[in-house]
Amino acid sequence: MNLQLLPIGKLDGGVLGDLAPALADTFRVPCEVLSSALDPGFAFHGERQQYHSSEILLRMQGLVTATSWRLLGVTSADLYIPILTFVFGEAQIGGPCAVISLHRLRQEFYGLPPDGRLLQQRLLKEAVHELGHTLNLTHCDDYRCAMAPSHAAEWIDLKESWLCSTCQGRVFAQDDP
Ligand SMILES: [Zn+2]
Ligand SMILES: [Zn+2]
Repeated sequence: MNLQLLPIGKLDGGVLGDLAPALADTFRVPCEVLSSALDPGFAFHGERQQYHSSEILLRMQGLVTATSWRLLGVTSADLYIPILTFVFGEAQIGGPCAVISLHRLRQEFYGLPPDGRLLQQRLLKEAVHELGHTLNLTHCDDYRCAMAPSHAAEWIDLKESWLCSTCQGRVFAQDDP
């Protein structure tokens, strides 16, 4: 069983390659980058100029195979769910699919100079956060924990890319017989 990273639409080279080893480390599971990308065109809504993340998750479910431990989609597209202006990502609670967006993690989105290292850190934190939800984790009170809620990029910067000991205990206890 592998954690599978699925490119959704066009992504800058190397983004997923850098993410994979860090996620493998965090979740103690092999991580592979899938070679064929999913075109998110079906989830585009012209009136909002955004992509509906729940529709992407539904489509991703059809791509889950016997070897998928979890399937994480990564996209540059701006994601939303109808009740919110935007989402950084969305997950199926209890699994198997989650999706995250780079769009609002980029400094350029806020009119600031690009920062590749910061972008990669934010992406990792959001990936750990949404994958945590697929493992039934809820939001964490420890502001440093990746499961702390964040509704703005500055909040993401406050937290770490790891799970606190309480959240880790919940995730890894599930492995025990
Ligand atoms: Zn969350
Ligand atoms: Zn936690």
